[in-house]
Amino acid sequence: MSPEKARKQEEIIIEQAVKDFVSNPEHQVQVDDKRRRCVDGGYRPGQSEGSMAIAGADLGTSMALLTLENPLTGELFTPQEAFEAVYKYLQDEGWGDYCWHSDTHEGHKGVVVGCGHCNAAILEKSKLYGVNGERVQQLLDVVRKAHQNGQYNMEFIELDREHAERGVLVNTGSLLTVKPWDLDTGEQYFVYDKNLHHDYLEILAEVIGVEYEELQASIDAQTNATLASLASSQGKPLIEINLDDPDDIKVGIIGYVPTA
Ligand SMILES: [Zn+2]
Repeated sequence: MSPEKARKQEEIIIEQAVKDFVSNPEHQVQVDDKRRRCVDGGYRPGQSEGSMAIAGADLGTSMALLTLENPLTGELFTPQEAFEAVYKYLQDEGWGDYCWHSDTHEGHKGVVVGCGHCNAAILEKSKLYGVNGERVQQLLDVVRKAHQNGQYNMEFIELDREHAERGVLVNTGSLLTVKPWDLDTGEQYFVYDKNLHHDYLEILAEVIGVEYEELQASIDAQTNATLASLASSQGKPLIEINLDDPDDIKVGIIGYVPTA
């Protein structure tokens, strides 16, 4: 069999496995606009209820703001401002608590924080983050401090898992997303709710007063930087999914995560 043909066959098998996974009603999630989770595949079913999956959760949005000018000051958002702006937006617009996460690897082998999106940016694993790693570290310190002082409404989840993601599910639907991990079968995927995220960022940009296109470009660059710099995602298939029509669930490989 030619390599091309072997690859095609392999892709058909992957697509079928993903179709079976996302078609299972137990894996599906109705997004309720109250929670964000990271694209990480390590969220258990109960930890995924209601949430939209975006890189770094709300901390990821603050990370992207670090690359933009704060309209209130005319200077780049400081780490404190990048946290406060997102926090205020969530509170004022009814989006719930400020969500972020770590994992049980924190403190081991140079892991500063168990959220790979934030950790890779701090360690400047890629130039594409567009921000100095020290400023991301300062942002993380601000978020940790706010969380510890107890006066902010925040949701922190410590994931307990080993990375076993088989690919990246890029969801273009607006109604349903999926829980990333089935503990019984061991199936685990990165999940990114692309279209839900775009709609969310459009409102956020307007309220905060930054250009939506600039914010989106920063988010896209940082999300891609993380996927390309994590050993757990490099080279894995990118699979577009859409579950909005239960009778016509769409699944298709759209590419592969590059290896940085
Ligand atoms: Zn994360």
